[in-house]
Amino acid sequence: MASLSPSSTLAQLVARSRKLGADRSVCNWGGGNTSAKSDEIDFRGRTARILWVKGSGSDLATCTEASFTGLFLDDLLPLLEREHMSDSEMVDYLAHCFYEPGRPRPSIETLLHGFLPFAFIDHTHADATNFFACATDGEKLARACFGDELIWIPYRRPGFGLAREVALAVRARPDAKLVILAKHGLITWGETDESCYASTLATVTRAQKFVEECIAQADKTIFGGPRVPTLPAEERANLAAQVAPVLRGLVSAEKRQILRFEQSEDVLTFASSRDASRLTQIGAACPDHLVHTKPWPLLVDWTPDQNSEALTTALRTGIATYVEKYHRYLEEQVQQNLDPDAASPIYRASDAQSDPHPRVILIPGVGMFTTGKDATMADVSAQLYHRAIAVMGGAEACGGFISLSDAESYAVEYWPLEQYKLKLAPPEREFARHVVLVTGAAGGIGSATCRRVAQDGAHIVATDIDLAGAEQLAAHLNTQFGAGRAIAIKMDVTSEQSVQAAFQQATLAFGGIDVIVNNAGLASSASITETSLAEWNKNWNVLATGYFLVAREGFRVLTTQGRGGNLVFIASKNALVAGKNAAAYSTAKAAEAHLARCLAEEGGQFGIRVNTVNPDAVLTGSRIWDSSWRTARAATYGVAPDELEAVYRKRTTLGVNILPDDIAEAVAFFASPTRALKSTGNILNVDGGVAAAYPR
Ligand SMILES: [Zn+2]
Repeated sequence: MASLSPSSTLAQLVARSRKLGADRSVCNWGGGNTSAKSDEIDFRGRTARILWVKGSGSDLATCTEASFTGLFLDDLLPLLEREHMSDSEMVDYLAHCFYEPGRPRPSIETLLHGFLPFAFIDHTHADATNFFACATDGEKLARACFGDELIWIPYRRPGFGLAREVALAVRARPDAKLVILAKHGLITWGETDESCYASTLATVTRAQKFVEECIAQADKTIFGGPRVPTLPAEERANLAAQVAPVLRGLVSAEKRQILRFEQSEDVLTFASSRDASRLTQIGAACPDHLVHTKPWPLLVDWTPDQNSEALTTALRTGIATYVEKYHRYLEEQVQQNLDPDAASPIYRASDAQSDPHPRVILIPGVGMFTTGKDATMADVSAQLYHRAIAVMGGAEACGGFISLSDAESYAVEYWPLEQYKLKLAPPEREFARHVVLVTGAAGGIGSATCRRVAQDGAHIVATDIDLAGAEQLAAHLNTQFGAGRAIAIKMDVTSEQSVQAAFQQATLAFGGIDVIVNNAGLASSASITETSLAEWNKNWNVLATGYFLVAREGFRVLTTQGRGGNLVFIASKNALVAGKNAAAYSTAKAAEAHLARCLAEEGGQFGIRVNTVNPDAVLTGSRIWDSSWRTARAATYGVAPDELEAVYRKRTTLGVNILPDDIAEAVAFFASPTRALKSTGNILNVDGGVAAAYPR
């Protein structure tokens, strides 16, 4: 892409941006943007002044040279003569100013950087300066802190108007060193890359010290002190795991959500405080937070001296009230139609209305749930809410937290450009927003199943008695599909306690479960006279009782969630036809397959489907194939172990080389929220073309 090999300015800009992004108290996720101006050789071979600015949608902490866009500064500056420009005009205009084609769309705050005369500029949403930006007396305090070096700009939605206002203010005050944008953020600059970075840090440090002194003098406990006690860590986790599926069901009324629970100290202090009920009604601390935290969190009306049933009830009431409030806010704003740029033809005409459910749910004494379309976005909401708590704490010490009004919030939340970004997002994959729990995940079929559905967007709970194997798989999935997509949990399917504990861990990790793949297995082969009672019991413990325990716990989570669900059992062709020298295995498999049909009958009323996949001999990539089972089966057919594969292959011209991936595909079909939606109680043979009646 960088065919013109830009000067070292861009490399320096990337380094500075990443340094800023590394400290989340300076630069929140996805927020803030940086720029540099340099002379470059353009495509005609002439020298041109170029503005390098961060593109839309990237995060400073992880940006690369490809995250930035170069624009011809000479094309931008004439815009300063204009008095008004709509967002869409501005976006179209900027598209004509690219130094190199193919770069990302430049930040909506591009003109803020372009119009200012400085060569290096940082625009951040730093906590410390937002203490002022979001305080009732913010301007006065900021002046006390920074004196004449400060330019204060009252709140205005980002875009052309704000950029121009800042440029004119700085032009009138050439001695100024920084700009604070009320209820938004900070602009700092320098004539070199180093002096710009130094100025940003010095400004943030100075604000931080000033506010710390305010806090010390105010002699107030943070957030008015505790209203309720914080529960011990273990009780918090237990409660959270118990109510997580209820909450997930409630917030998934429009679209399934992935939940994230956390109980860090700032969250507990805030959620349990006296002031929380007032502060959580005020609004978002920064326009940038809105899309991921909504204008308000839900503070659940419950105290730790009440029980978990009371918490469930409080969640139901709280969510319902929140949704009503959100709809009211939308209706009022649409009617008022305050901002012509943000007036929402998109919202009115289509489904662009954002989900009315809260993204941040605070439970006093217990912790915080955040939601998102995947684990990453649930994490982003949490990260931004930590910033919000910090800003509220500082602003309260500075005389009182204020935030965007409903009209200002609406203008950001339903900003056509924000909506445009949403529309550009690729369509969601088949298993997006779904959590899939697989037992025996470390084995061949288990890991193939995890890979298959993860590739199409699923979050994975990989359980196995072999924890190291499951961890290895989860690590692989996280590397390939993004951090937080998979977790590993040790589960012994024959132990009631182990199964319950694993499900509790799973609901705590993602909020709930949508698909349970009952797959843990074993292999056993012996004539009836050679079959010990222990061997018989082992087969029945794993394949019948184990499947029952997992299915029962799965049903409990799914029915609590109340959003339907899906179980897929991995049985065997031995469940349907006799297997020579495999009585223990075959009868236990038959019990398992019948359990699946019984549960299909029971699950219908809850929208829970239960289907079975019957693999025949999976020869490649299976743990079973490598075990002593192979030797025993070979003896049954009277061949050497190495020849067994040939025996299986000879049974059909299609070839019976069934791969774990073939089984995974059948599982994905049944588990699919769309493809097999109207099908339950089925058995699908994956047999390589050998009919079930074939003597085994
Ligand atoms: Zn900003």
